[in-house]
Order: sequence, then structure tokens, then C-alpha cells
Amino acid sequence: MSTYARASNFIRYLKIAAIVVVLAVLVVSVEAQTYQGRMIHEGSLPVIYGDDAFKANVLHAMDYLATNYPADYENVVFWLAEIRPTDTYTRVNSAGVCHLNADDYTASYLWLASVLIHEAQHVNDDAIYFVDNPYTAEECEHRALNVQAAYLEDVNGWTGEQADAWVDGWMAKRYWETIPEKYGA
Ligand SMILES: [Zn+2]
Repeated sequence: MSTYARASNFIRYLKIAAIVVVLAVLVVSVEAQTYQGRMIHEGSLPVIYGDDAFKANVLHAMDYLATNYPADYENVVFWLAEIRPTDTYTRVNSAGVCHLNADDYTASYLWLASVLIHEAQHVNDDAIYFVDNPYTAEECEHRALNVQAAYLEDVNGWTGEQADAWVDGWMAKRYWETIPEKYGA
């Protein structure tokens, strides 16, 4: 093979390599845009009702999650449709309508974020995990508390044992029975 032929082959390889690189960059940028689109959830952010102070607290908690716990944030914005204040107790329905009481929405944004994670997990479970499966309120709460505890463990620097003890403490209260009874629900 002549020097000229080798050089021309080399140039052909360079051209092919350049095309491969261009295609790879295109694929990566398309994926990045898709991912960003999912992160933002344009048009599907939960609608927040209530006064300005309530909205500010909820948005603060959500912003914190978006920055620090993006996977949890994605669950919250995906599964919660509405966030509303209530004079009774914090709860969510399977349509993603979430009510927060003052104990939760006037607490620190770190705690409030954990409550949003908990309530979003209920909606997620109702839509996926518990579909066509009989389940108890106890199992339902246990799953939501575990997800909330995983976040609190990280935020508070707890050990796994501390997180488990926190879940056990809430489970022992059987609040899913006592709280609705208190409000005649
Ligand atoms: Zn719950």
C-alpha cells in the first residue's frame, strides 16, 4: 500500500470516527433533554391551595427535595395532584389529593418534605403495589413510613437502627386508627 493510500484510508477512518462522535453527542443531548423534561414535570406539578404562607412552606420543602433528593422530588410531583391545608389531620387519597395539617406545614421544611414523601408513597402504592391485592392500613402505613424514614435517616444522620426505631415508634401508635376516630372520620 502506498503512502498516499494509507493516508487516504486514515482520513476515511477519521471521517467515520467524527461521524460516530457527532451521533453520540446528539444521542446524549436528546437524552439529557428528555431527562430534564421529566424532572420538571411541566404541566403536572401539584396544584397548591391555601394562603401565601402555606404555599411558601410547601414550595420551600419541594425546592429542597428538587435540589437534594431528586428521586423523592420526582415521586412527590408525579403522585401528588393537589396539596391543601386542613384543620383536621394530614392525609392523602388515591387520586393524589393531599391535605396537610398545621403540625406538618408549620414544622421545618425538612420535616414537611418527609411528609410529602410519605403521602406520595401512599398514592404510588395505591396505583401500583396494592392494585388487585388486599391490604391493611397497617401494611400501607408501614411502607410509607419506611420510605419517609429512609429520607429522614439521610437528612438527620441516623443509623439504620435509629430509622427502624422511628418507624416502630409510629407503628406502635396505630395512628391510622386513632386519628380518624378522633375526628369522627
Ligand atoms: Zn400514611
